[in-house]
Amino acid sequence: MKTELAKELNVLISSPVMNKRGEDHKFQLPALPYAENALEPYISARTIQYHYGKHLATYITNMNNLIAGTEYEHLSLEEIVLKAEGGLFNNAAQTYNHVFYFEAFQAHDAQKILPSGKIAELINASFGSFDAFKEAFAKAATTLFGSGWAWLTINKDGKLEIEQTGNADSPLRHGKKPLLTIDVWEHAYYLDTQNARPKYIENFWNIVNWEVVNQRLG
Ligand code: MN
Repeated sequence: MKTELAKELNVLISSPVMNKRGEDHKFQLPALPYAENALEPYISARTIQYHYGKHLATYITNMNNLIAGTEYEHLSLEEIVLKAEGGLFNNAAQTYNHVFYFEAFQAHDAQKILPSGKIAELINASFGSFDAFKEAFAKAATTLFGSGWAWLTINKDGKLEIEQTGNADSPLRHGKKPLLTIDVWEHAYYLDTQNARPKYIENFWNIVNWEVVNQRLG
């Protein structure tokens, strides 16, 4: 049923970057669409080196080890996230969530920090203004207790929603199509802002790639 819902939501057809595989058919770390230091001073090169280069790489390695020789081996990443449980779910969903997170950044550009196009219209229609949306999204990211993610999603009726998921959990499991996410695990910000999660969230708005968010609307 979750797979049927996913088809309805069109989440099984995602960016090929989400399903990058080698000649051995193993999932691979997709290339970052910007330089390691491109997000400074908002996210440091050192955080990218650890968060993308170590944490995400480890989730991918763990997932590859867990699917080897199983019924999951030839499924797409999205299908694995929808069907798996336990350790495989944790590593597959963390892979999906992280690739999704890292894909939607760009170097700071004052001309591009506001959403444009269809996503701007939908945000204004759903939340009243971009500032009201930012406030609600930041509140979700700030108040999530422990490790997890805050998301902007769209449901099958075309309505935007903000939600929180704990640990590896993903909106894909709840019938929502994700559009934008912020990782609020401490590893996402501790090297840069230490205990100050709100400062990390404030920095986030300077580097969101709204063009990617528009592409995700499909
Ligand atoms: Mn993370």
